[in-house]
Amino acid sequence: MPPAATDELTPDAAVRRYVDAAARLVGLEPDVAEVLESSYREISVQVPLRREDGSLLVARGYRVQHNGARGPYKGGLRYHPAADLSEVRALASLMTWKTALLDLPFGGAKGGLQIDPAELTPTELQALTRRFALSLSHLVGVYRDIPAPDVGTNGQVMAWFMDAYSSRNGYSPGVVTGKPVDLGGAPGREAATGRGLVYILSATARRGGWELAGKRVAIQGFGNVGSWVARELAELGARVVAVGDVGGAVTHDAGLDVAALVAAARAGGSVVDADTPHDKLDPAELLTMECDVLVPAALGNCITAGNADQIRASLIVEGANHPVTPAADAILADRGIPVIPDILANGGGVTGSYFEWTQNIQQFQWPEERFNEELRGRLERAYDAVADAAEQRGCPYRLAAYAIALERVVNAVRLRGYV
Ligand code: GLU
Repeated sequence: MPPAATDELTPDAAVRRYVDAAARLVGLEPDVAEVLESSYREISVQVPLRREDGSLLVARGYRVQHNGARGPYKGGLRYHPAADLSEVRALASLMTWKTALLDLPFGGAKGGLQIDPAELTPTELQALTRRFALSLSHLVGVYRDIPAPDVGTNGQVMAWFMDAYSSRNGYSPGVVTGKPVDLGGAPGREAATGRGLVYILSATARRGGWELAGKRVAIQGFGNVGSWVARELAELGARVVAVGDVGGAVTHDAGLDVAALVAAARAGGSVVDADTPHDKLDPAELLTMECDVLVPAALGNCITAGNADQIRASLIVEGANHPVTPAADAILADRGIPVIPDILANGGGVTGSYFEWTQNIQQFQWPEERFNEELRGRLERAYDAVADAAEQRGCPYRLAAYAIALERVVNAVRLRGYV
């Protein structure tokens, strides 16, 4: 069967579809909706690199600033072969809605470098990052646009970015977040996306009157988000029954040993190498296996019209950005499978970035306990607002979340006299 028409949407058209639905729900005038469905500024830069073997790599980099009505643009830098303009544009828009939903004083942006970082040496990655940072240095800034880690980047990449930017503008730790703790990073930021997702999941369980302990959870992706979700869930007594990464997937009904999975990933291997009893699992089957909670925490577009009718989880929590296509979202809604959307579920990352940024501006550092406490408070408030709105409007969480975010952004856009 050919895929449903909406599954063929480009990533930015797919996100526009969600915004459009929310705009209709809140009765937004179509011309104002049009302003919010396109980006403010999109730049594409050439980033050449002379590789260590003498060959020349000519990479393409992007930074898309979607909307800045509520504050400086904010959003990660993704290093991935699929990080093209459409994907970066979609992800920038998600950041506008995410920061608004979390009520952070930021707009939304995203950057991408269309490379496979695994193919580059650390020296090459550093050189490429420095050149990219200098190409963006007229756009970014502590009060202008603040990048952060995303897929394919990490604290080290942020440190190089910050150093290159600071070499032109003076020491500026607040120009990026997600830095190493020794260089102005905030203790707690690295874990914040995964930990935040588990705070949201705990709030969902509390409101639904069920216990997280003993629940069977499948996690697709074992990078920063997936591995922290697994660690935090194991602490709470949930059973991590399946995990997958680029190397494959593993399952064990009694629960996998999360510490062993983390050790395998740290050693540069895959979860399939972990020293824990397991069976190999087809990665596509991880998404459709019977479980209580499914956490897609890898890349976008993994739940589509092609597999949405086979999902057997009772709840989906989006650790990744845009893992569910609009066509799949409609199928899941029809089937009564709730989805906690990315802009809420993975909002702990940018909330942690906000804490780091404020600490950089003040040249101050919070202890991790305070960071986690504030993180939990902010995420629980956002969750309650979304759950209340979903109940009142009788709509799915995603639509409710977009409606709240949209109203906040529209309010700021109007107050600033932009429309
Ligand atoms: N890349 C993360 C996200 O998609 C974090 C962004 C940030 O901290 O600015 O939310």
